[in-house]
Amino acid sequence: MDFESLRRILDHLPVSFFWKDCNSVYQGCNASFARDAGIASPAGILGLQDQDLPGRSAEAEVYQRRDRRVIDTGEPLLGYEELRHFADGREVMIVGNLLPFHGPDGAVAGIVGFYSDVSDQRATESRLRLLSLHDQLTGLPNQALIRDRLEQAILVAAQRQRALGLICLDIDNFQKVNNTFGHAIGDEVLRLVSARLQQTLFNADTVGRMGGDVFVLLLRDLQHRDDISLVLRKIRQSLARPFMVEGHEVFVTVSLGVALYPEDGEDAASLLKNANTALHKAKEAGRNSYRLYSPAMNASALMWLGLESQLRKAIELGQMEIYFQPQIDAVSGALAGAEALVRWRHPELGLVSPADFIPLAEDTGLIVDIGTWVLNETCVRAKAWHDLGLPLPRVAVNLSPLQFRHQDLVTTVCAALLDSGLDPSLLELEITESAVMHDVDKAADILRYFREMGVRVAIDDFGTGYSSLSHLKKFPITLLKIDRTFIEGTDCDGEDNRAIVTAIIAMGHRLGIKVLAEGVETAAQSEFLRGSGCDELQGYLFSRPLPSAKFQAFLEGLSAAG
Ligand code: C2E
Ligand code: MG
Ligand code: MG
Repeated sequence: MDFESLRRILDHLPVSFFWKDCNSVYQGCNASFARDAGIASPAGILGLQDQDLPGRSAEAEVYQRRDRRVIDTGEPLLGYEELRHFADGREVMIVGNLLPFHGPDGAVAGIVGFYSDVSDQRATESRLRLLSLHDQLTGLPNQALIRDRLEQAILVAAQRQRALGLICLDIDNFQKVNNTFGHAIGDEVLRLVSARLQQTLFNADTVGRMGGDVFVLLLRDLQHRDDISLVLRKIRQSLARPFMVEGHEVFVTVSLGVALYPEDGEDAASLLKNANTALHKAKEAGRNSYRLYSPAMNASALMWLGLESQLRKAIELGQMEIYFQPQIDAVSGALAGAEALVRWRHPELGLVSPADFIPLAEDTGLIVDIGTWVLNETCVRAKAWHDLGLPLPRVAVNLSPLQFRHQDLVTTVCAALLDSGLDPSLLELEITESAVMHDVDKAADILRYFREMGVRVAIDDFGTGYSSLSHLKKFPITLLKIDRTFIEGTDCDGEDNRAIVTAIIAMGHRLGIKVLAEGVETAAQSEFLRGSGCDELQGYLFSRPLPSAKFQAFLEGLSAAG
């Protein structure tokens, strides 16, 4: 076979191919090589050298030195990998081979070279490498890479005798964002949060995602322990602005836990563990706050970890209790109703507030059982009080969004009413905005059932969620409960809050819904609310939530007085 026939075969291979004589003068090539080198056709290459070829002139010296080596030693050069800039502007990663060929006399007569483009393959490999160390959703370093970076940073900090800061960050009630808007928007919020965190920190600092809604920030080269509070402030400020996602304005707050090297741990594992403990403390303290780790936290953090299994058994063990808080008619001052509020009497911790264990119960799904228990118990007690002739116009039970979505709620409520014999009109169910906004149509169906049964429905914590007024109109709601954060300050400098409260009352009345203010603590607040036309009031000013027996005594007192 002559060279020309051979070349024609080579033209069809996905490989670039050439041969040169002993002086690095080209003797031939295939079409693919001609294109890379920047000449019109393979025939044109005869007699040229690398410096004559547009795609090779820049590196001509390198190529010729390499040719020389192969020719002088007679040894092939196989599998070298390098980046090439081709004549058509492509930048390509190649794997190449150079082999000597011999003349009839047995001496080296020239060299054959061929290479193939492995860019796609390398890109895939590096993407895979990247993926295994990066979180797919946000592109941030994942847990494995964070640990690695932390270990490196500790080594450097130890050498330079510098401090390091490790921050664990958790988005408060992120479940609520998912429940309200769905997971696609939840994911987008996570991406936007990660972008803001990256903008906020210096480049030398690492932002990573541990999973879920938990992020980790590694601060290198802290000059001073106090610098950390500056960073915490910056983080919270940058996340305070709302996130715009598909036309929704989403607000988030975060809880932060901090551990410092070297005082809070000298290795990656203990720093991560302690920052996480501090984070849990911040969440326990009511979220939207931060905590610096202290060794005293360890004991209670362990307790926190054991809490889930204890909560599972709490109902069986009779550790759950229901307190009742009176609700007052703003005009007459008469009792309008009472809200049932669950408590957990923990053998060692004492009375645990629902603010502390409801989030855990929601995360674990235990809230469904707890909620059903509260509903049944409350109906039984209200029926008993009614039978005693005590003046309780209605009793309210809180429903978690989870119950609203995952349970055959209508059946559960029917059963509670039938079993207890309580008149449905004496029962009020408190739901939050996020529970109904998740699936508006389904929610409207369920609420319509309740109305047909004669059960009342209140929207709890109104103003803190994301409900749209046009949707509220669709629901058969009997009461709007203004969240207590809006009531705070209405008695002094809370000009904004006063405006919001007045607007909610006006809006409720336009829709034919009564309005209750939660968390009324001072006479001045009560005066303002009464003056603004608020229908009902609930708060420490009138009474704290009372244990069942005390509440019964309270009703008996009213009954005797009336
Ligand atoms: P919520 O439904 O908004 O209940 C009102 C909360 O405000 C109660 O806290 C009550 O004790 C408190 N509160 C009442 N008046 C005042 C006041 O004047 N000032 C202040 N600062 N607070 C006042 P609690 O009992 O700790 O309940 C917290 C939350 O836990 C409840 O908020 C509710 O969302 C949830 N929760 C309570 N019981 C249940 C339940 O049985 N099921 C469900 N799903 N959630 C419950
Ligand atoms: Mg409530
Ligand atoms: Mg409330």
